Amino acid sequence: MVVVRRVITPLLLAGALLLTGCSDDAPAAPAPAPVTTRTVTPAPTTVPPSVPASASVSASSVAPPAASGKVVVLDPGHNGGNAAHPAEINRPVPAGRGQTKPCNTTGTATNAGYPEHAFTFDVAQRVGKALASQGIRIVYTRQNDTGVGPCVDRRAAIGNEAAADAVVSIHADGYEAAGANGFHVAYSAPPLNAAQGAPSTRLAQTLRDTMRTSGFSLSNYIGGNGLSARSDLAGLNLSTRPVALVECGNMRNAAEAARMTSEEGRQQYASAIAAAIEAYLAS
Ligand code: ZN
Repeated sequence: MVVVRRVITPLLLAGALLLTGCSDDAPAAPAPAPVTTRTVTPAPTTVPPSVPASASVSASSVAPPAASGKVVVLDPGHNGGNAAHPAEINRPVPAGRGQTKPCNTTGTATNAGYPEHAFTFDVAQRVGKALASQGIRIVYTRQNDTGVGPCVDRRAAIGNEAAADAVVSIHADGYEAAGANGFHVAYSAPPLNAAQGAPSTRLAQTLRDTMRTSGFSLSNYIGGNGLSARSDLAGLNLSTRPVALVECGNMRNAAEAARMTSEEGRQQYASAIAAAIEAYLAS
């Protein structure tokens, strides 16, 4: 059973009115939050020939990357086992603002059938690898692409429990309208706590700016200037940490589907998201 949410939304584009969002909220994954901790070893310092050996720079004097020691929670949307477990996935869970939502959804897919959950899992792994190389501790909300959930409220809890310096949910949209394309970044609005205020807005803006300068197009069908204020996403509502959700593009758009389906394309998304998170943590 597919749980892709369809929402009627005002459109900027002529034509279709159905938004097959990847929908849901974002965060997820029940399991023990895992974690990849990596300690950065400063690169060997090259000592000029004229400098006596005794004056060589010790490794400890080399400054670590600015974001070293920070904690980042990466939340790849959906999961590969969701579609086969409708009862678990449709179970209502707290979504913030007094609302409930289904535990999780299946997500969307390209017209050729490449699923959002596979895309988000792969991109998150690539983002995590890049950040870990900078000494950042990575916590993923799910450890594989074959499980069920975690529910959106649990995904948010993982970020909160990790005391994350930044939480980024990764999704891709499924908007059925000709020409609809581009990425957007969602943030909680109005904010429900201090972390959802300025820090989350800055995280969202940094993601928007970095993805744009990395060559990705702003969405032409949702949000404004690549940003979307949302009050209905559980992963954002329930977070007590700086949080944003990236909809990398529209899987129903041929060009973006091709990019998402290729390994090279996924690395491009990951590199941009990782650079944005590094920039946010350093600012
Ligand atoms: Zn999604």
